[in-house]
Amino acid sequence: MSDWNIRTKLVHEGTRRSQYGEMAEALYLTQGFAYPDAEAAEARFIKAGDDEFIYARYGNPTTRMFEERIAALEGTEDAFATASGMAAVNGALVSMLRAGDHVVSARALFGSCLYILEEVLGRYGVEVTFVDGADLDQWRAAVRPGTKAVFFESMSNPTLELVDIAAVAKIAHAVGATVIVDNVFATPIFSKAVSQGADVVVYSSTKHIDGQGKALGGVICGTKEFVRKVAEPYLKHTGAAISPFNAWLHLQGMTTLDLRCRAMADAALKVAQALEAHEKVAKVIYPALASHPQHALAMAQMGSGGTLVTFEVKGGKEAAFRLMNALEIAKISNNLGDAKSIATHPATTTHQRLPQEQKDSLGITPGLIRFSVGLEDAGDLIADLTQALATA
Ligand SMILES: *Cc1c(COP(=O)(O)O)cnc(C)c1O
Repeated sequence: MSDWNIRTKLVHEGTRRSQYGEMAEALYLTQGFAYPDAEAAEARFIKAGDDEFIYARYGNPTTRMFEERIAALEGTEDAFATASGMAAVNGALVSMLRAGDHVVSARALFGSCLYILEEVLGRYGVEVTFVDGADLDQWRAAVRPGTKAVFFESMSNPTLELVDIAAVAKIAHAVGATVIVDNVFATPIFSKAVSQGADVVVYSSTKHIDGQGKALGGVICGTKEFVRKVAEPYLKHTGAAISPFNAWLHLQGMTTLDLRCRAMADAALKVAQALEAHEKVAKVIYPALASHPQHALAMAQMGSGGTLVTFEVKGGKEAAFRLMNALEIAKISNNLGDAKSIATHPATTTHQRLPQEQKDSLGITPGLIRFSVGLEDAGDLIADLTQALATA
């Protein structure tokens, strides 16, 4: 199976069939499992086999299919699915850290990731040093013997800044730190973080993996040792389990993940080019444009600009709001990776709680719009943005 290409793996990997030989992956909506006899129950609690389950908080056949499929995509030995992306980020970090440990993290983070690194870890005696993720000298200066983990988003929200995964992994591994990458924005299709040196990759499967904005989910991918010995005991005893129903939805989503991400990225490039040529747009941030400051790194690391385009409209918040309110196709929301295009105003929503100076340092200006490109026709999206820009 390991020599299958991505699209084949996404359709078939992890499938388990019952005695009925069903074609579609079955949804096992059950919290528990009946044992044939008391001896079997005892034996399973001592050691459960691959096809043996105890309780859905620990594992479930549908969830297991999702975990095996994503592990096959990532190229990791194993994976553990969680109730949300945040349960995955929290679980990956908290399960491996203890008081007195040191972590280095990129500063530009998804709001809830920042909460875990800034608030939660400190409360339990873990010291976190924040760095500018794109500046390798800062990573070099921050790691030290005793640094247990480094954490970063391979592509940041909302300013689409990249971290050089291979370079940071080398710096981290020199002091024995575990490299944990939130790969959500870059997507599992474009970012091969593990082959570039990441030890653990986390996803919010709520985003591209679901792909239709239906259900929350998350996953931690890594070695068997990390997933089953470090993360699983923490996750299964603290209740991070994904609903089998959500795992089933995300398993279905994976079938078309490669097709969707590539179609969205193709459209995103066209949208970015059209925006860059528009007189009312002050700046476009899209890694596949030559104007992106890390264009070369993006092409080497991802081979694509991804599915999000961030741009700054001239005229600040007022113009940004007028533009968003005039959009007829894209919805105003804050998810991403959805089949439906989504416009987000980070300064007043996802990043609202940040103090102004932090918004300034992260480049979250009043005119900034994050645009998650969906599966609509690129020409229609450009026409819609063009008519909306006329009102801005
Ligand atoms: C959405 C997101 C998360 C959190 O995922 P949920 O499924 O909403 O809990 C974490 N990191 C990044 C980069 C995200 O975009």
